[in-house]
Amino acid sequence: MTGRQDIQISVVVPVYNEESNLLPLYGRLASVLKSTVGESYEILFVNDGSQDQSLEILRTLGSQHAAVRYIDFSRNFGHQIAVMAGLDHAVGQSVVIIDADLQDPPELIADLYHKMQEGFEVVYAKRRTRKGESVIKKLTARLFYRILQSITSVAIPVDTGDFRIIHSKVVDVLRQMPEQHKFLRGQISWVGFRQTHILYDRDERLGGSTGYTYRKMIRFALDGITSFSDFPLKLATLAGFVVSFFAFLYMIWTLIARIVWPESHVQGWASLII
Ligand code: UDP
Ligand code: MG
Repeated sequence: MTGRQDIQISVVVPVYNEESNLLPLYGRLASVLKSTVGESYEILFVNDGSQDQSLEILRTLGSQHAAVRYIDFSRNFGHQIAVMAGLDHAVGQSVVIIDADLQDPPELIADLYHKMQEGFEVVYAKRRTRKGESVIKKLTARLFYRILQSITSVAIPVDTGDFRIIHSKVVDVLRQMPEQHKFLRGQISWVGFRQTHILYDRDERLGGSTGYTYRKMIRFALDGITSFSDFPLKLATLAGFVVSFFAFLYMIWTLIARIVWPESHVQGWASLII
């Protein structure tokens, strides 16, 4: 059995309907990994209920290359759960999380890895620019990270996805975190350790279309906000106080009205309102 001693880098790739991207992705991953750590790497694909030919391609890759493993979900569970399943099974001394659509350039893994050797446990890749994404997507993403930053005490880096390298120590901690609604980029900020980043230009998706519908994006944003901020809870408390305050004033007013103008309303009105 291969263990952590042998594997320098595990690469975790969540896959949802990526049939046109998997072979080019494998080629670029294998070549950068070979030149960075020789043969001591593994690539762990997590098929998140794809409806296209992704699984068949992963099967073939797995049978052709010893370094390729895959997990197959029974249905589409979502990106964060897929990444976490990969982290649960990765055996490397460090783990890279990367998208399957080649928006995160695999060649950057060499830089992430070398930066880590300088003594960091987390090196994330921060987007300098992002290509080929709609104005609405860029705007909502920008807004979301700014809002999240302003209401949370955890320093979650802005304009950063899950593309990063993390040490197995960090993976061990993530495995112990009980969150049902994962927000990994926030959790990784929260756990501490020495962290840094490098900048990159985000490419267009190679083929296919985004698996992140607006519905999934909103759910993800809400998970981030509710997991990393008590602002919504405080807002609800404050709203409760404000409403009770005005209700109380109205109660007093009703009582006064009942005493001062006893004939102004039908019988039982005051007691009912109070
Ligand atoms: N993905 C996934 N499950 C989903 C949606 C997406 O595993 O339900 C994967 C997808 O295959 C890709 C990564 O998560 O590797 C990022 O998704 P996508 O490129 O669709 O998101 P975007 O880049 O548009 O935000
Ligand atoms: Mg993408």
